[in-house]
Amino acid sequence: MKDFPILKPKIILGVAAHPDDLEFSIAGSIAKWTAAGAKAYYLILTDGSKGTEDRSADPKKMTIIRRQEQRDAGKLIGLSDVFFENFEDGTLENSLDLKKAICRIIRKVKPDTVLCMDPTFIYSAERGMINHTDHRAGAMATMDSVYPLSRDHLSFPELLNDEHLEPHKVKTLLMTNFENHNYGEDITEYVDIKLKALAAHVSQIPDIEQRSDMVRQWMANIGSKYDYKYAEAFVRLDLSL
Ligand SMILES: [Zn+2]
Repeated sequence: MKDFPILKPKIILGVAAHPDDLEFSIAGSIAKWTAAGAKAYYLILTDGSKGTEDRSADPKKMTIIRRQEQRDAGKLIGLSDVFFENFEDGTLENSLDLKKAICRIIRKVKPDTVLCMDPTFIYSAERGMINHTDHRAGAMATMDSVYPLSRDHLSFPELLNDEHLEPHKVKTLLMTNFENHNYGEDITEYVDIKLKALAAHVSQIPDIEQRSDMVRQWMANIGSKYDYKYAEAFVRLDLSL
């Protein structure tokens, strides 16, 4: 594994498809960095209106509830703000509209560090799961937005000309991948707050005790690879262009 310099982000943007995705993947690191003085923001791309087995659930009400749960989780880990886009849950595509929406927030917030899912993670035979289509599309669009679209003033020129949003270069991209990763962030002191933030997603995680045990075990497994008690795992790219 590559020996990276210590990461001390000052402005952070986490991008994900659904409310709760980032609590599973990055909330411990976010809590650690905001405690050290960083400003952190989330951008949630879909309306979160589909992920339920409850046949009486009203999708519009679910959006409102899940956004509030995301804000509540964000308060626990010190987020400065949460941005929400309105793409329909389950139908996210790596479209120009999506990339423009992500670029707009990158240019507004000017993060040195952006976090998203690893778009190359499509399925896991080991864990018997398919990575949700929204996760893959959102992650690919985020990667495209970090480079080259946020950087180049001629990409989405209306962002500069009409909205006065200057181009921006992101320094580090951290992509969550629990199986293939090259960087572990020590979250030993922040695993409890991560799990509290996860538990704020009441409508999505009814079996929170079981899920908490599972997530704690994931973080311990990752930590053991980096000599920490608990860690979150990323593919880390320090961008030079
Ligand atoms: Zn999700």
